[in-house]
Amino acid sequence: MTKYKHLFGPVPSRRFGRSLGIDLTPYKTCSFDCVFCQLGRTTAKTFERKEYVPVKDVIEELDDWLKSSGEADYITLSGSGEPTLHSRFGEIIDFIRSSSSIPVVLLTNGSMLKYADVRAAASKANIVKLSLSAGDQDLFEHINRPPPDVSLKVLVEGMQHFRDEFAGELWLEVFVIWGANSTPKDISRIAELAKTFKPDRIQLNTAVRPPAESFVHPMPKQKLENLATYFDPPAEVIAEFSSDYTSSAKASEDTILAMLQRRPCTTKEISAALGLHINEVSKYIGKLERTSVIQAKPTGHKVYYTCCLEAGVSE
Ligand code: SF4
Repeated sequence: MTKYKHLFGPVPSRRFGRSLGIDLTPYKTCSFDCVFCQLGRTTAKTFERKEYVPVKDVIEELDDWLKSSGEADYITLSGSGEPTLHSRFGEIIDFIRSSSSIPVVLLTNGSMLKYADVRAAASKANIVKLSLSAGDQDLFEHINRPPPDVSLKVLVEGMQHFRDEFAGELWLEVFVIWGANSTPKDISRIAELAKTFKPDRIQLNTAVRPPAESFVHPMPKQKLENLATYFDPPAEVIAEFSSDYTSSAKASEDTILAMLQRRPCTTKEISAALGLHINEVSKYIGKLERTSVIQAKPTGHKVYYTCCLEAGVSE
């Protein structure tokens, strides 16, 4: 997959089986700067919509991939930032839907759904997964760190309009941070807002991968399962705790570990060296760090990971 610039994977995931990712923005170009973001802090916080990567190039790569291997359970618009900031993302969905029967998933923070043309483009996907992790303006600003004057009310109204116009499956992901939005009251407020746009599925996640901010702590699985009952329909816990790993994920994890046994690296360096998307690297680093196999060493503006095991002692 390293021959492609805008495609990554297919990545094995519990949620989407094998999912081919499409990256439509430069690294960390996003309308929010979520404290839990697995990609680190947002470096380009913007509401500007433009053709961040050429549609022509993405379509050429997709065409090549479909004609060569072309096997995945889903094709997902996600990646290094907010995909709906790309002004022509709807054309990419059109191409996939006319060239393949693989369902298209759009992962979005929902911030651009207040615009009718964004809702029309997003409606072309088979599944749209929104995220909402705050039930009031203060928590929204604390957790998602939107630009000034962006209101939770307008965000949710955009989601409601989208639900009215979208005939596909609407999913909602709620990211729960222990001590920030994890009380029954916090979760009930989010559940009340969710009722207003009626997601078909609701999923709870937590910080099982390295978050942007060190004060973000994961919720234990059992507590997440208790909170899942506050939603209608009841939420599913999708956080991939260590025991959920597949054998192919284990192989990638071993490769990363072997690299870190030789020298400390950042997630970006691992991503470049192994040809894995930074999302994938972050997933494996998260598990290795939680199980104390590696440790983070912040150095200047970067975080290096070092191995706590001696070479050749990986389990
Ligand atoms: S979690 Fe998503 S919405 Fe939040 S900063 Fe990261 S890419 Fe943007």
